[in-house]
Amino acid sequence: MISSPISNRHWQHNRTRQEYILNKLKSAIPTLFAAVLLLLSNGLNAQVLAGAIPPRTLDPNAGLSAILLGTGVPIPNPARATACTAIIAGARVFLVDTGRNCIVPLNQAGIRDLTGIFFTHYHSDHFIGIGEILLNFAIAGNAAAIPVRGPTGAKEVMAGIAATYKLDLDYRLAHHGDKFSAAVMEPIVTEHTPGVIFEEQGLKVTMFNVCHQPIEPAVGYRFEYQGQSIVVSGDTKVCAEFAEGARDADLLISEVENAQIFNAAITLARNSNNLRQVAMIEEGMDYHAESLALARLAQEVGVKKLALTHLFPSIPPTDQAEAQFIQGMSDFYKGPILVGRDGMEVAP
Ligand SMILES: [Zn+2]
Ligand SMILES: [Zn+2]
Repeated sequence: MISSPISNRHWQHNRTRQEYILNKLKSAIPTLFAAVLLLLSNGLNAQVLAGAIPPRTLDPNAGLSAILLGTGVPIPNPARATACTAIIAGARVFLVDTGRNCIVPLNQAGIRDLTGIFFTHYHSDHFIGIGEILLNFAIAGNAAAIPVRGPTGAKEVMAGIAATYKLDLDYRLAHHGDKFSAAVMEPIVTEHTPGVIFEEQGLKVTMFNVCHQPIEPAVGYRFEYQGQSIVVSGDTKVCAEFAEGARDADLLISEVENAQIFNAAITLARNSNNLRQVAMIEEGMDYHAESLALARLAQEVGVKKLALTHLFPSIPPTDQAEAQFIQGMSDFYKGPILVGRDGMEVAP
C-alpha cells in the first residue's frame, strides 16, 4: 500500500505516540505489578488471618433472633453440622447444643465469643462439637470461661471433653504460656432441673421437659427478650410437655422427622430382609417429632412461625428436597414454615 507523505507523517506521529505510551507502560509495569501483588497479598493475608470472615457486629439494642448453625443428624451430610442453634439477644450470643462441626458455621456467622451454652440432652450429635469451639476461642485469644448449662449429665459430659483435650491443653500451655487461656477450655458447668434457669439483663431462659424417651433427661428451652419468644425443642416426639413448652412462641425452632420417607425406607429394608435396619429405623422414628403431628401441635398452641432443624432424614439443602420434606404440613399449620439450612438467620 502506497501512502501519501501526509498520511505517512500522520502514521509516524501516531506510531511514535503509541511507542511512547507503550514504553511508559513498560517502565511502569514492574511498579504496577508490584502494587497489584501487594494489594492481593495484603488482602489474602488479611483474609487468611481473619479466617476470611469478619466478626459479626452485634447491636446491643437489637431484639431476639436465631441462626440455625447445625440442621443435621448423625448421618453424615456435608451441608449440615449436627444440632447447634445460636440465639442472639442484643449483643449477647448463646448456643443451644454444640453438635458435630458447629465451629464451621459458627465461624462463618462471624461469632467469635459466647455468653453461654445450653445443652438439651447428651446424645453426641448435640454436644460433640464443643471442644473445637472452645479450642478455637482459646487460640483466638479469648480469655473468659463460658458458662455451660444443661440438665443432669452436663458435668459428666464436660469432664469427658476436658479429659479428651487434656494433652492438647498441656501442649498449648507449655508452648504459648498464658496467651492461651486454660479457663476457656474449662467452662463453668451448672446442672439444672426444669424451670427458669437464667435471667439477666432482660433475657429469661426457661428449661422444660420434652419426650425423647428412653433418653432422660431431655429438655427444650424458651428464650424471652424484649417481649418476644423463641423456643428450641431439643429432641422430642410430639407430646403434651413439648406442646406446653412451645405454647404461643413467636418462633419455634423444632426438630422434625419425615415419616413418609422413613416408611419407604422400612419397606425397602423389609423387602431385603434387613430386619436390624427395620428395627433401627422404627426405634429412631419413635422418639422424634413426625412432621404432620408437629404441624398440628404448632397450630394448636399458637406458634407464630416454625423453623425446622435436626432434619431426619438428613436431606440435601435443595428446594426440591425441602418441598418434599414438608409436604402436607401446611394443611395443618397456617403460619410460615422455614426448612433450616446451616447458617440460616431467623427472627420471630
Ligand atoms: Zn437425641
Ligand atoms: Zn439429635
